[in-house]
Amino acid sequence: MRMILVGPPGAGKGTQAARLVDRYKIPHISTGDMLRAAVKEGTALGREAEGYMSQGALVPDSVVIGMAIERISQPDAVEGFMLDGFPRTRPQAEALDEAMTAAGLSLDSVALIEVDDSLIVDRITGRRSDPETGVIYHLVFNPPPPDVVDRLVHRSDDTEEACRARLVKYHNDTAPIIPYYEEHGILCRVDGVGSPNEVTERLVTALGHE
Ligand code: AMP
Repeated sequence: MRMILVGPPGAGKGTQAARLVDRYKIPHISTGDMLRAAVKEGTALGREAEGYMSQGALVPDSVVIGMAIERISQPDAVEGFMLDGFPRTRPQAEALDEAMTAAGLSLDSVALIEVDDSLIVDRITGRRSDPETGVIYHLVFNPPPPDVVDRLVHRSDDTEEACRARLVKYHNDTAPIIPYYEEHGILCRVDGVGSPNEVTERLVTALGHE
């Protein structure tokens, strides 16, 4: 199964992707995670991406497209993959299509997790992740167990200011990929408001693969 998760920042893409890849046994490919790893390692790509990321801006297509296409060409992605956070612009969507067509492949589904902007800022500023397990918590909506609290990480772009910038970017740059995939007949819309379990069930129903 080759699929994409789309949605505004804080829609729950990371949380849902982790659950779905377990179910479908495909790799979770998050360009945000790849870029954060590159920043942490201090690679040339990481140094280029860092400034954009900390301001809530998009990393240029010229950097991200090659990185994502190279990743989906790896052996573990031959049978399928779940892309989270890519494509985020129309040129990225077109480049992905071109690369897949050239490889004789096509996308099965694009799942759009819909959450209203008014809910996003609270979701994002309270978000914390566990670097050891990758689990994402929310200080109020999904509180972490006391024994992991001390090691939780608050992403540097999860501030209110960066979050608002990311929402603007989402509406300007990423939302145009929605009609693109709608025209291709592979878009499914899922309500992202509810418990993580509820949203996972909606996604599984919409994707049509048990
Ligand atoms: P995420 O973890 O998906 O929220 O991504 C965190 C940040 O990484 C974004 O705010 C962007 O700065 C950058 N980023 C991740 N994926 C992409 C992409 N496909 N295109 C451009 N920038 C990206």
